[in-house]
Amino acid sequence: MIRIEHIGIAVKDLAAAEELYGKLLGSPSYKREVVASEGVTTSFFQVGPNKIELLESSGVDGPIAKAIEKRGEGLHHIAFEVADIRAEMARLRAQGFTLLNEEPKRGADNKLVCFIHPRSANGVLVELCQEIR
Ligand code: ZN
Repeated sequence: MIRIEHIGIAVKDLAAAEELYGKLLGSPSYKREVVASEGVTTSFFQVGPNKIELLESSGVDGPIAKAIEKRGEGLHHIAFEVADIRAEMARLRAQGFTLLNEEPKRGADNKLVCFIHPRSANGVLVELCQEIR
C-alpha cells in the first residue's frame, strides 16, 4: 500500500454536500464523475496529497442508497493507492481477506479498483485503487 488515496463519504444530496465540504475544506470540488457501473455520482476534493470523495446514489436501490438506508450518511470507505492492484489482490487473498471483486474494475477518477469486504477489516469497507496509466 502506498498511501491513503481518498476517503469516501456517502451523502443523500450531492449538491448540498459539495457546498458544505467546499466550505469545510476551504476549496471547491474539482470534479464530478458519474460511475454508471456502480450507480453513483461522485465529487472529488483535494486535501493536500489526499482526496475526499462524496458519493450520491444515482438510483433508489444502488449500493450507496442501501448503505445510507442501513447506516445513514457518513464514512463509507477508505481507499488505498497501490502500485499493482492484481499483486495486492493476490497478496490479500492469500492472507485470508474476502475480496468483493474477482477482477479489478474501472472506478472513478481513472482508477482500477477492488473492494475488500468490511467483515475482513473490522467493519471498514476498504478500496484498493491503482492509477490507470
Ligand atoms: Zn472510492
